[in-house]
Amino acid sequence: MPIPQHHRIVVIGAGIAGATIANELLERGQSVCIVDAANSPASACSSHAYAIAHPHIGRGSPRLLRLTRIAFLMAEARWGKQWTQHGLFQPTKKDKVFDREELQIHLQTLDLDNNMAKPLDASEARALLGIGQSGVWLPRGASLNLARAANKLLQKHERLTCFWDAHISRLELCDGRWLLFGNTGQPILSADKVIVATAMETKTLMASIEIRLPLKPVRGQLSIFSIAKNDPWATRLPRVGISGEGYCLPAEELADGSHRWIVGSSFDEGEDDLEARDSSDMFNREQAQGLLDYTQGDTSALKAGECFVGIRCVAGDRLPIIGALTQRPGIFLATALGSRGVLWSALAAKLITAQVLEDDFALLTRLGFAADLVAALAPARFFSGALPAASALGALASNSKPIFPSGPKAK
Ligand SMILES: Cc1cc2nc3c(=O)[nH]c(=O)nc-3n(C[C@H](O)[C@H](O)[C@H](O)COP(=O)(O)OP(=O)(O)OC[C@H]3O[C@@H](n4cnc5c(N)ncnc54)[C@H](O)[C@@H]3O)c2cc1C
Repeated sequence: MPIPQHHRIVVIGAGIAGATIANELLERGQSVCIVDAANSPASACSSHAYAIAHPHIGRGSPRLLRLTRIAFLMAEARWGKQWTQHGLFQPTKKDKVFDREELQIHLQTLDLDNNMAKPLDASEARALLGIGQSGVWLPRGASLNLARAANKLLQKHERLTCFWDAHISRLELCDGRWLLFGNTGQPILSADKVIVATAMETKTLMASIEIRLPLKPVRGQLSIFSIAKNDPWATRLPRVGISGEGYCLPAEELADGSHRWIVGSSFDEGEDDLEARDSSDMFNREQAQGLLDYTQGDTSALKAGECFVGIRCVAGDRLPIIGALTQRPGIFLATALGSRGVLWSALAAKLITAQVLEDDFALLTRLGFAADLVAALAPARFFSGALPAASALGALASNSKPIFPSGPKAK
């Protein structure tokens, strides 16, 4: 058997998760080897150029909401100079009544001041944002080009080794080191610590060391609509992002007076087909009507052009899986980022680096990262003896949508 190249730390997967973790380790003075099946970073789901980020304020589990606030602050610290801070408006759900006082109390309990989340009634929202709906304004909400971010994180560095076009088919522990086998059946790398950030493929890699993870794919399509200059939609298009049932970015006016508007996303549970679908664009047109509360708008005026199709990886309990795999010492997981790749990769970088370096967690504690939150994300929650805190949170929380849509979905 040829002797594989040895590294203390290997990251498998150069999407936004793997790239962010590798970069954090480099910043902490470590040498890192990153390996990916593709020939460059961010070739899969992280080729997404329009990923939004904001603290979550829904009525979900308080622990999930605490986590998204911490993760948002970490993401802002990491990408605040790079992302587009256009702000995001979250309209009041159609079946809810806007109650400013109640909302204000709720936001305070989440430690979100007006600088992060501000209730607006419909007339305030119209005056401030041009949106005639009540809701919560998240002025620090932003969008990030994941591919650009991942490429930047993996820029040439004296302590970074990159292996491209190297698909890892299985792992094996041998004499205290992890061997990473390539497609030829030979080990191509060995490592003391392996961080697996391979989205859905984490399932196969974990199966090779007899760890079963409940991961599933959820296909999503984001539409890029074009709207003619004098169309009635043009007067309604938002100048900020909106996040509700689906999301949209601020519409962009082009030189000829037409608009380009990004609206998403379909949510096709259990599917992993990357072909663009007309039915997904149709679904997004309906989301567009809902986001703007413009049910009378003629959806045929939203002309579909390019689109982004990606496969999200979600865990059975909809939370990300981030942390040391205590059943297999030396293995760390960062997967199941669902529809929150920006938030969870920023958080994964801090948490996994602390675990890999066996820090004393003082920094994480200062950031508000309590033990119950670490347990809620830990891979151990899927195995017998999982911590009750984790399962309780899992039962309530969603990593992407509060509940999967029950109505007809885009196919
Ligand atoms: C339609 C849509 C809209 C979304 N909107 C948002 C949004 O608004 N905000 C947000 O934060 N997130 C959003 N997301 C989610 C976000 O895109 C993902 O969470 C994120 O890109 C996942 O990153 P990742 O690094 O975990 O996985 P990936 O980007 O899939 O990276 C995995 C990497 O692992 C490599 N790999 C896999 N298997 C192997 C192997 N065996 N050996 C070697 N390499 C391997 C792959 O080549 C790939 O580079 C959206 C997703 C979709 C589909």
